[in-house]
Amino acid sequence: MPAKFVLVGSGLAGGLLAAYLGRRGYDVDLYERRTDPREGNIVGGRSINLAISTRGIHALEQIGIADEALRHAIPMRGRMIHDKSGALHFAAYDVDPRKCINSIGRASLNAAVIEAAQRYPNVRVHFNHKCTDVDLAEAVCHLETETGKVTVRGDAVIGVDGAFSAVRASMQRNIDNFQYDENYLAHGYKELTIPPAPDGSWRMEKNALHIWPRKSFMMIALPNPDGSFTCTLFWEFEGARSFATTKTDDDVRRFFGEEFPDAVPLMPTLLEDFKNNPTGSLVTIRCAPWYYRDRVCLLGDAAHAVVPFYGQGMNAAFEDCVVLDECLGKFPDNRERAFAKYFESRKENADALADLAIGNFIEMRDKTASRTFRAKKKLDHLLEAALPGMYLPLYTMVTFTRIPYAQAARRARLQDRILYTALIVLVLIGILALAVLPGRSQRQ
Ligand SMILES: Cc1cc2nc3c(=O)[nH]c(=O)nc-3n(C[C@H](O)[C@H](O)[C@H](O)COP(=O)(O)OP(=O)(O)OC[C@H]3O[C@@H](n4cnc5c(N)ncnc54)[C@H](O)[C@@H]3O)c2cc1C
Repeated sequence: MPAKFVLVGSGLAGGLLAAYLGRRGYDVDLYERRTDPREGNIVGGRSINLAISTRGIHALEQIGIADEALRHAIPMRGRMIHDKSGALHFAAYDVDPRKCINSIGRASLNAAVIEAAQRYPNVRVHFNHKCTDVDLAEAVCHLETETGKVTVRGDAVIGVDGAFSAVRASMQRNIDNFQYDENYLAHGYKELTIPPAPDGSWRMEKNALHIWPRKSFMMIALPNPDGSFTCTLFWEFEGARSFATTKTDDDVRRFFGEEFPDAVPLMPTLLEDFKNNPTGSLVTIRCAPWYYRDRVCLLGDAAHAVVPFYGQGMNAAFEDCVVLDECLGKFPDNRERAFAKYFESRKENADALADLAIGNFIEMRDKTASRTFRAKKKLDHLLEAALPGMYLPLYTMVTFTRIPYAQAARRARLQDRILYTALIVLVLIGILALAVLPGRSQRQ
């Protein structure tokens, strides 16, 4: 008899993992606390759209649904920087103009992965089931439904239930020395809208990720297929100018007028959006181990939530699905070994991504506005073109390759050291040449 997996959470990673496990022939029951996203509910408080890149697309390709899932995705070829005067600067993501990230609707992607899972007759999806506790040793999951409590037993339970995972909470309560660390940014986020133009077209460049960098905070906008953009304001929760002090319509008008004057005329519902849309928090979660014997395992945000500034949280969660599937294939008769191998190969990379994501917040909100930053990006592209395969900018490695995150971070540090050393040597040679040449010409 095939092993039975109980999956908790049918978000982005849960649906995809169910498809992978279904393809391997396991018996899969997937429990989700919300109603079916295909019935039109918003996927709880998370971003409306998000950027999918090479790692995520590869995971979709492996299960044969990339074309279908990406049907309505919009390629974004670079960053469009909006400065305070309204001037625009475009910076391509890569030297190769075909390399782009893709804006995709969270709800449609969620529906696509759930549908992929449901194509396997051995996968069953149950909505409106909220996990409250897991008995780790028995792989028993306790759930609440509208009509009462349910208990389900599997051979293994997988927590794919996001950053505030109930499965992980059970591990925290019951595993000695379970390591857990959560770190909230001082910034929160709020989603706002730029609707389509009256003729249905996009009011700004469609194939770009728009950024309004303002040093300690920023706003970004990603295009949607209906001609609109979803903007996200990342701003301090507290402080002299912050979410906390911006209460009245006048406060909102003044702040946006000062900081994003070119965006305001495109945002007719700004005041309502600002008032009605929730302010989300941004958390990094690290924990270990991600598994308990051959009984319980964590995947996606449940194992490693990261802040969204590298656009990699979901991409990494999808990559987890590929790796866990490979490990289960490698150790078909030893699930504990498969879980251990999966944890071993992903943990270092999840930790590296968490650091990269925090680092990219500073880059996006502050450095993208500077000429030096734009010059460094140009130099990156020149070096990439001049030294193919030898020099790869960090952003390229993270976004357009499947080089493990930790390896990419190490390689970027080494490249930077070599580059800066070479620059220092060149400057020293220049200074020496200037010092030696006048003496020589005098002797001649
Ligand atoms: C503002 C923002 C922008 C982002 N942009 C990007 C981006 O551009 N690119 C990118 O790659 N990533 C992005 N991310 C990160 C991405 O959203 C997450 O990494 C991704 O959603 C993780 O998928 P997941 O399936 O692990 O968790 P989730 O998508 O959070 O899914 C968890 C699921 O579990 C369910 N659940 C929770 N608790 C229970 C319970 N007790 N019982 C049953 N079900 C439960 C939830 O309802 C949900 O359906 C962004 C995140 C944010 C906040």
